[in-house]
Amino acid sequence: MIKRPVNLSKIIHSFIIIISFSGIELQGQELYDLIIRNGRLIDGTGNPWFQSDIGVSNGKIVAIKNLKNQKANRDIDATGLYVTPGFIDLHSHADRAMTSDFIEPRMAKSLTSQGLTTVLGGADGRNTIWPLSKEMEALNSKGHGMNFILMVGHSTIRREVMGDDYERLATQDEIKRMKVLLKEGLEMGAFGMGAGLEYRPARFSNTEEIIALGKVISDYNGFYIAHQRNEAIMPLSQLPSTAKGWPIDGLQALEETIQIARATGIRVVGSHHKARGRSSFGRSSHDIQIINNARDEGLQVFIDVYPYETFGGGARPMIPKWSLIDKNVSIVGGRDDPKWSEEGLFKNSRNNLKRNWADSKKREIIKRDISWIVDHNGGQDRVVVVDYPDKDFVGKTLQQIANDRNTTYQEVVVYMALNGYKEVIGGAWTRGYGINDMDVTNYYKQDYTITSSDAAVSGVKDREGFQSEPGAHPRHFGAFTRRIARYVKDLNTTTLPFAIRSMTGLPASVVGLKDRGYLKEGFAADITIIDFNNIRDNATVLNPDLYSKGIEYVIINGNFTVDRGELTGNLPGKIIRNDHEDF
Ligand SMILES: [Zn+2]
Repeated sequence: MIKRPVNLSKIIHSFIIIISFSGIELQGQELYDLIIRNGRLIDGTGNPWFQSDIGVSNGKIVAIKNLKNQKANRDIDATGLYVTPGFIDLHSHADRAMTSDFIEPRMAKSLTSQGLTTVLGGADGRNTIWPLSKEMEALNSKGHGMNFILMVGHSTIRREVMGDDYERLATQDEIKRMKVLLKEGLEMGAFGMGAGLEYRPARFSNTEEIIALGKVISDYNGFYIAHQRNEAIMPLSQLPSTAKGWPIDGLQALEETIQIARATGIRVVGSHHKARGRSSFGRSSHDIQIINNARDEGLQVFIDVYPYETFGGGARPMIPKWSLIDKNVSIVGGRDDPKWSEEGLFKNSRNNLKRNWADSKKREIIKRDISWIVDHNGGQDRVVVVDYPDKDFVGKTLQQIANDRNTTYQEVVVYMALNGYKEVIGGAWTRGYGINDMDVTNYYKQDYTITSSDAAVSGVKDREGFQSEPGAHPRHFGAFTRRIARYVKDLNTTTLPFAIRSMTGLPASVVGLKDRGYLKEGFAADITIIDFNNIRDNATVLNPDLYSKGIEYVIINGNFTVDRGELTGNLPGKIIRNDHEDF
């Protein structure tokens, strides 16, 4: 495939020679597949817009110049619109949908409608399908709506090597075997390794393990991207009642990422980076200082950030799960112990909670854990009830409900667990605003900050796993449009070209993409066309599956996934491998 444009230009060249020999004034009368006329081009470098036409043929941008006298099979009049490179997402959970058995999830409409054209695989260190040859097969079997960048997941290979016996440091021999798997993936075209150090099985690894693997990545000029070991005061797996010793905090986790860059020389990205939880609000200033120091030192450190004050894919309970289970069940494995998903575990949850709550000593521990969980989700005035049988609760914060009922917010959490939906853990769907805009805007102002979504495909009717759920994160429908609508238009955090660069040229350069991320002749025709005056994310926590407005066209490899604001359902995505041969 890479030879195609070369041949094409040869043909055009000889065509021009022939017509100039024959003396007919037809020079330049080639027919483009598509011409986008009169747009304001934002090329992905961060430079301000300039006006130009763009000619597209055979899936490539072949001309950026005045094409007034040229013809095309298709014309777009982009007068007054911004023409940008297609958006690239370095933290995407679209892989499951784009390898699904069903066509509709593969279209990834909740994501292409945001202007996305390319996503990275292996988010949080996990490959949906392994090995990469099988992942590619699954993508190719029925097509996919966005380009897919191959990555090796650290958790994937750790699990491959260690199996279920992963709750410990890896031996030298096991690290050696992980290196072999990583190398195989990089040989096959992966651009690097993703990690999820806050999750199982990776949270049992140490920095040395990652550095050993990072040295392999370095041999391939690859990069490392991680859900870091913590983003808050305490990792997700811990609660005050179960924490042993003093666990690593968010700042130390960022320092670990920097240490990996220092020890290996590779590009590193702290992914969906955030100051998580009320106790961490304001940490961005400290983060930025240590990243700046690292960069001054010569380390290639980047972060990606999604444009929301709320985190986590779905709604979650504010009550410690241990208070809901039978007393003989061991809880030493932490909040992420696989046993929490065992069937029947919560069948006596109300009785168990009543028993624990009646015990004055246990009641204090439950209260303290609730306080931590609520703080971690932004505080009692930032945790909102998204769904509950008593609709009077819905849309209110825990503090508001506590005020209404003349009680404490901890009591409200327990009350909902005892009186709410029987089938929902904690009785209610709740979501917190556990990130602060002051930190989000602070990160977004930095030139090393990439825009990401952490989104999956959502809103597909009648397809389990891809449907909208109460309290689902609005990012599935609105992340990239929100980066522009809220953080450029409303808050004036950065200029539009700076924001566009953070979602196009910058991630492309960090990954090492050779022909995407910029509007440039010879580059792939991945193009998003925006109506800036009308751009708006519509999805909210209470109404998470509303499409954005203002994305007029999305073009992937020359094909439309959004055309005149309408989703086409096309599947023009390609697998992007680091040899840049299209698979
Ligand atoms: Zn994550």
